[in-house]
Amino acid sequence: MADELRYDGRVAIVTGAGNGLGRAHALLLGARGARVVVNDLGGDVHGGGQSSAAADQVVAEIQAMGGTAVASYDSVEAGDKIVQAALDHFGSVDIVINNAGILRDSSFAKMTEHDWDLIYRVHVLGAFRVTHAAWPHMRSKGYGRVVMTTSAAGIYGNFGQANYSMAKMGMIGLASTLAIEGGAKNVLVNTIAPIAGSRLSGTVMPPQMAEALRPDYVTPLAAYLCHESCQENGGLFEVGAGFHAKLRWERTAGHHFGSQPFGPEEVAEKWLEIGDFSQVSHPKSIAESVMPILQSADSPF
Ligand code: NAD
Repeated sequence: MADELRYDGRVAIVTGAGNGLGRAHALLLGARGARVVVNDLGGDVHGGGQSSAAADQVVAEIQAMGGTAVASYDSVEAGDKIVQAALDHFGSVDIVINNAGILRDSSFAKMTEHDWDLIYRVHVLGAFRVTHAAWPHMRSKGYGRVVMTTSAAGIYGNFGQANYSMAKMGMIGLASTLAIEGGAKNVLVNTIAPIAGSRLSGTVMPPQMAEALRPDYVTPLAAYLCHESCQENGGLFEVGAGFHAKLRWERTAGHHFGSQPFGPEEVAEKWLEIGDFSQVSHPKSIAESVMPILQSADSPF
């Protein structure tokens, strides 16, 4: 058995920590020495209502284990208040797990702008505001670990979840740039795409499956990404039950038209070659992305 990874001296904010995945993350970090801000608005799955009960319950559970935690009932849309709670109570912020989430599922044809906007505000704007408020503190102390929570729906799309897919993909883009901007200051940012039985997934998952896919199977990965020994940055991971895997972009060798004139007909002619994944590369940056495009340009820059 490996040595236990501990979080003594660290201050962690876990958003949406009153239920499901966030609760499991908060309990583990609290049990292993972190001082935890248990943030939860206490609303329903669709973003309605508000209650202090969910966050209070998790704070009580952490305290019952001998840990230290404080509740924050603000919406992630007021991210600065959540970070202020960490500073007021614990004087610092080292770890942010952006986990709060709701669903407003509807086919795109029936989706209202309210459904779109609410999902954007909780997932994207919320993650932005909490992380943005924590960012200067992490940068100035040269230490930070941020985890974004995306979804397979964001990566692959899912019927009835255009708003949620947009938001979850947005969080991946946010994490990619924050990883670049934070890396030099030891502020590392990674993203998990979990599957777990919870109040949220209970709306789409049969009860037996929900029972088998416990949130605490996702927490070890989230917690590892928050540990000082973890140097991973800008990664995207799928996780659920005991399964853990990393994702990356893959690009075909493509086709260069070179200096020959070409129109849609030539694109159609080369369609199979353009989409042929028998030879691939895995670009990791804009520089690697544009390399073949610059090679294809008919005049040097
Ligand atoms: P959950 O409903 O059990 O917990 C989410 C918590 O977030 C709730 O306690 C809720 O009150 C809180 N919350 C909602 N809006 C908030 C706000 N504005 N401010 C603060 N707290 C707020 O859901 P879960 O399944 O544990 O989901 C956690 C995260 O994981 C979400 O971001 C979700 O999109 C993502 N996710 C979950 C699954 C899954 O299979 N459970 C799959 C993919 C992604």
